Amino acid sequence: MRRERGPEESSRMDTQRLSIRGRILEPDDPALQEALAAVYETPERPRCLCVPGGVEMYVAFHCSYLAKRMPDTGSQHHPACPSFEPSPQQSGLG
Ligand SMILES: [Zn+2]
Repeated sequence: MRRERGPEESSRMDTQRLSIRGRILEPDDPALQEALAAVYETPERPRCLCVPGGVEMYVAFHCSYLAKRMPDTGSQHHPACPSFEPSPQQSGLG
């Protein structure tokens, strides 16, 4: 019997999984840098897999390659995703 995870634990996302050229990579995957480098400055985009279908990201380079969210896509990420940001329209008119 496997021990089940509590709901709190399973709903938290510390790791941001990315889909790059059909591969699914996590931030600590040694192949991630290589995969990001391969699509850097190309029209191909990594997708953040926090929601069904994923959210497009772009690749930035600051000492190492990073997947960053595109402008105005913060609210498309899952609230538990590191890239999530509530949209300013929603928080302004409470
Ligand atoms: Zn996300």
